[in-house]
Amino acid sequence: MGSEVTEIFGSMVFNESVMKSRLPKETFKALMKTITLGEKLDGSVATVVANAMKDWAIENGATHFTHWFQPLTGTTAEKHDSFIEPTSGGNVIMEFSGKELVQGEPDASSFPSGGLRATFEARGYTAWDPTSYAFIKDGTLCIPTAFCSYTGEALDKKTPLLRSMQAIKKQAVRVLHLFPGNEDVTNVITTVGPEQEYFLVDKALYDKREDLIFTGRTLFGAKSPKGQELEDHYFGMIKPRVQEFMKDLNKELWKLGILAKTEHNEVAPAQHELAPIFGTTNLACDHNQLTMELMRKTASKHGMVCLLHEKPFAGVNGSGKHNNWSISTNTGKNLLDPGATPSQNAQFLLFLSAIIKGVDEYQDLLRISVASAGNDHRLGANEAPPAIISIFLGEELQGILDALLSGKPYGESAKEKMQIGVSVLPEFNKDTTDRNRTSPFAFTGNKFEFRMLGSNESIACANVFLNTIVAEELEQAADILEKSKDFNADLHALIVKNISEHKRIIFNGNGYDDSWVKEAEKRGLLNLRSTPEALQHTMEEKNIRLFEKHGVYSKVELLSRNEIHYENYIKILGIEAATMVDMTRKQILPAAQKFSLALSKTISAMQTAYSGCDVSYEAETFEEVCSLTKEIYEGVKVLESDLAKVTEECDPAKKAIFFHDSVLADMEKIRTAADSLELITPKDIWPFPTYGDLLYGVR
Ligand code: ADP
Ligand code: MG
Repeated sequence: MGSEVTEIFGSMVFNESVMKSRLPKETFKALMKTITLGEKLDGSVATVVANAMKDWAIENGATHFTHWFQPLTGTTAEKHDSFIEPTSGGNVIMEFSGKELVQGEPDASSFPSGGLRATFEARGYTAWDPTSYAFIKDGTLCIPTAFCSYTGEALDKKTPLLRSMQAIKKQAVRVLHLFPGNEDVTNVITTVGPEQEYFLVDKALYDKREDLIFTGRTLFGAKSPKGQELEDHYFGMIKPRVQEFMKDLNKELWKLGILAKTEHNEVAPAQHELAPIFGTTNLACDHNQLTMELMRKTASKHGMVCLLHEKPFAGVNGSGKHNNWSISTNTGKNLLDPGATPSQNAQFLLFLSAIIKGVDEYQDLLRISVASAGNDHRLGANEAPPAIISIFLGEELQGILDALLSGKPYGESAKEKMQIGVSVLPEFNKDTTDRNRTSPFAFTGNKFEFRMLGSNESIACANVFLNTIVAEELEQAADILEKSKDFNADLHALIVKNISEHKRIIFNGNGYDDSWVKEAEKRGLLNLRSTPEALQHTMEEKNIRLFEKHGVYSKVELLSRNEIHYENYIKILGIEAATMVDMTRKQILPAAQKFSLALSKTISAMQTAYSGCDVSYEAETFEEVCSLTKEIYEGVKVLESDLAKVTEECDPAKKAIFFHDSVLADMEKIRTAADSLELITPKDIWPFPTYGDLLYGVR
């Protein structure tokens, strides 16, 4: 297998080495210039590249090509065209022009655009993103593209991500050129390694659950006798069937050049995680989308279903995505690595302080970037970080910052005060930095780990926001320091100022503790508990200004995204509520009826047979079933009437709040009663598989 890995790795990717071997030297050079420096691609170059790409794709079994893009639905889209062109003799040849490579026009008017594009002028176009390699998937050459309207608005998730990377590059390079030793730095990229959590359930059981099919999560289900209390699943032995799935998945991912690296069982039964080796944010985002897609496909080949929902099961952990994020230079330096010399340390502390300032000033945006109906079930519950944004630095790095702020020496043995740009940072143990798993935004030695992302979401938005926020803070720093007459003194002052003004965002304690909620409130930090609450902040003046200033979103683009965000939330809850009504009326109530009828018949039969017969089990159960049935029936009527009410509300913000406050609460009531009913109903009468079946069904 080992040698096979090196052979198959990237075998389905039109990557640099394939390009080098297949393109004329001049074409290759021109293309690399576009890829590394973002220079415009010449039409004649595109023609040559397209031809080489087509030949390579056909040799590798492809018959079709597609412009692969990431619409605002958060998934990916593709429309396949075959390479065939008819010839006059009634035959076909395989053709692919430079124009077809560079630009496409999917008739994609049904994708949400948040009003950016009235449907009558529906056409958006896709444009090749040469910074992400083309690849072959299911016999189709996929060309990663951006999706824009003809008036230039971004209709996708990739375009703003590329823009945000440009923004942070520009400002970071400015900052770096102020420090000695960075003369060779011409480019700065952000890097991401997203750890992906997921559940696997048996397909045959899944097929019996309408809620899983329609909503991706269970809307009903009493706790199984065994949940995650023994914590025996975490890092436990991987079951052979899952092992086979992982083996297959890795192979598929490797073929696409995705660096799948670690895999293990997670805390909840049936929950697993896959982590890739990090890469450029743009690629990491593409690769994460492909990873999710391949997880689903591969699971289905193995008779299972991969659940990527943030909270498929109540009472056991949900799934998230840890977005490990850092910044690095074209010279290979990780800017979040503290370094060893005074100058490297100073540079690190400036970047660190800029991030601290940015996270504090734009807490709302970071919260919004991870807000979804699914993730609302996690954030703030006892498994994921709370809905409050804070930064974890670890005690030792905190000690260094405290010493800087107070102007006192760090640690007992130190005699000298820390002087930025002059002193060397004291050693701090990076291994201790990762122990706190409760922080939403944790420094882990040479990167930050943003832990609030939902498992099902594209990582684009979180990284667009993060990149732009940090670009803004770096710009402010560069504006000050470029004018400085005494660099070290001004740098020292700026770092101290950033930290002292924004230290409220740093919290090294237990984020799951209730006392943190109170403490955060005292500090004036935001606690946006739900998606509707978070979304109210998107269009704040400071946020519009931020994105416009850095050319990442125009005001309309931001507004359209917010509209879609609301729309998504409302639609998801609408589907969940309708599914619940359906399951309640067609499955649960009829089952209750069947059971109560059986009980009543048994009771009278028993008493007829022998009047002194003890029917306490039958009678008490009958009473309980009747009372729960009534509760469920009343509940479903309330839910139905609230659903009718909500259709009258036109304002999306109010509608979302109504869904959150009323509809979700109605659903919770029905569920509680139904779960109690499940616990007393015989297995052969309960209409669908239970938690026990689902969580332990893959053997
Ligand atoms: P753990 O969090 O389990 O200790 P690691 O810290 O090694 O594991 O890595 C977790 C994830 O962070 C991996 O996906 C890894 O590739 C990613 N990562 C490591 N370094 C960086 C970096 N400089 N930028 C972005 N992601 C990184
Ligand atoms: Mg980690």
